[in-house]
Amino acid sequence: MKKVIIIGAGVSGLASAIRLKTLGYDVSIYEKNELPGGRMYQIEEKGFKFDVGPTIVMMPDLYKEVFSLSGVRPEDYLEMSLLNPLYTVYFSDQTKFDVSSNLTELIKQLESISEKDAEGYLKYLSDVYRRYHIAKHAFLDISYRKPSEFFNFKSLVSLLKLKTLSSAYASISRFVENDHLRRALSFQTLYIGVSPFSGPSIYTIIPMIELLYGIWYIKGGMYQMAKAMEKRLIEMGGHIYYNHLVDEIIINDGIAKGVIIQGNPIFGDIILANADFPWAVKNLIKQPKNKGKYQNKKIDRMSYSSSAFILYFGMSKKYKTHVHAIRFAQDFEKNISDLFKSTVPTDPSFYMYSPSQIDSSVAPSGKELIYVLVPTPSLHQNNLTWDEKMTKDYRNHIIKLIEEIPGFEDFEAHIEVEKVYTPKTFQSMFNLENGATFGLRPSMSQSVYFRPQATFKKVKNLYFTGSSTHPGAGVPIVLMSSKLAIASIVKDHPL
Ligand SMILES: Cc1cc2nc3c(=O)[nH]c(=O)nc-3n(C[C@H](O)[C@H](O)[C@H](O)COP(=O)(O)OP(=O)(O)OC[C@H]3O[C@@H](n4cnc5c(N)ncnc54)[C@H](O)[C@@H]3O)c2cc1C
Repeated sequence: MKKVIIIGAGVSGLASAIRLKTLGYDVSIYEKNELPGGRMYQIEEKGFKFDVGPTIVMMPDLYKEVFSLSGVRPEDYLEMSLLNPLYTVYFSDQTKFDVSSNLTELIKQLESISEKDAEGYLKYLSDVYRRYHIAKHAFLDISYRKPSEFFNFKSLVSLLKLKTLSSAYASISRFVENDHLRRALSFQTLYIGVSPFSGPSIYTIIPMIELLYGIWYIKGGMYQMAKAMEKRLIEMGGHIYYNHLVDEIIINDGIAKGVIIQGNPIFGDIILANADFPWAVKNLIKQPKNKGKYQNKKIDRMSYSSSAFILYFGMSKKYKTHVHAIRFAQDFEKNISDLFKSTVPTDPSFYMYSPSQIDSSVAPSGKELIYVLVPTPSLHQNNLTWDEKMTKDYRNHIIKLIEEIPGFEDFEAHIEVEKVYTPKTFQSMFNLENGATFGLRPSMSQSVYFRPQATFKKVKNLYFTGSSTHPGAGVPIVLMSSKLAIASIVKDHPL
């Protein structure tokens, strides 16, 4: 049986392990942390169960597929429900807007703003739907092993049809006039660390998929997906070794042979790295001759997505909000421009997640879990220290802004449990280069064919999967990346 070593038990590492095990490969995962999931991590304290990273479940079929392909019923592993509303948006003028997942309700809400914008919204949906299908079939489902797979007439036509040159905000502005609506329908690119005001990126349409396929909730929180994959893999006879930090990929004569953990070599036929691509190439491939075009200098020069400052609060009372909510900055454009110019925003837009609104298993009775994510610059262009003082000052500032939202005026007085993750925490906890929570930025020069691919050309038997590889970041997208990596492995190493 061919032995596969996977470095990292993130979403794509776990999903890849299940896929490989289903096909009959012998699989072992080595993970530096003590829990599965990577960024899909969990902190548990005093009965509060905080999802650390991802919280928004889109494209649920991709989640379910990991289980069904291995021969079990997904519903025996995950309990999913469609959220309504999708999210609430709070504006600085004290107004708010619930974005319903029910078209009949949503149209009524939109008509109350403007009939013209309601019509524009429907046109926008159809535009997004068309573009998503083009992207899916022309780019997302393909692993580029040869230049000719990208540089061809079909790809060119698809790229033109995708209208990749406009930003998310510009796209929606073609259909809708109201600025609140424009913001509410374009901020989603921040989910993958991209500015809604900047193009070009084929990925600007990906987060809009929530408008078509909904936002789902997994009972127990997002971490349940990691736990469910871990459970399935172990049932199938796969192995996961926690607290095992891989120090090096063993490469002899251009062929990957195994990994080194605490000085001990472990050998395998195939090495699949789920550790974030730029960090892994820089730190785990020791000899420059084996790095190919990804020398350390190039990795330092590549561009990185934004990062996040997250406050995790266990509250001693209930608050009236929805599972997902966004608080918009007064000057949204300035906020975003600060963020991508590497300045920590003083009037930031931020995202609030409160799963205890609908799930009593994540917080003690009568209490509320509230996670507040502030998009911040990653560490590649600035000298932000995120030391104790800076972290505390920013925390106090964010709490003041939370207390400006109607219904949250007494927030600080009711904090019972509090945790914080800064870009530095993300960097050290999950080995993310520059603490960039979504990995390499999906700019045009780092997308599709130009993004690192599953097959590492310079070293035989070495493959990559995860956010910084094609197709990109976000749980459903890294699940696609795992599919592409396994297809390449199977092609090169049939059983
Ligand atoms: C704050 C935040 C919010 C997000 N929100 C959403 C969301 O709402 N919806 C969504 O779909 N996506 C969201 N994402 C993105 C999503 O979480 C990621 O794209 C996805 O989880 C990444 O999975 P991965 O498999 O690529 O890698 P990772 O999660 O990074 O997994 C890699 C694993 O490798 C391990 N590792 C690294 N180096 C080594 C080593 N040397 N030895 C052993 N192990 C190692 C790491 O510890 C980690 O467990 C969010 C991400 C963050 C950080």
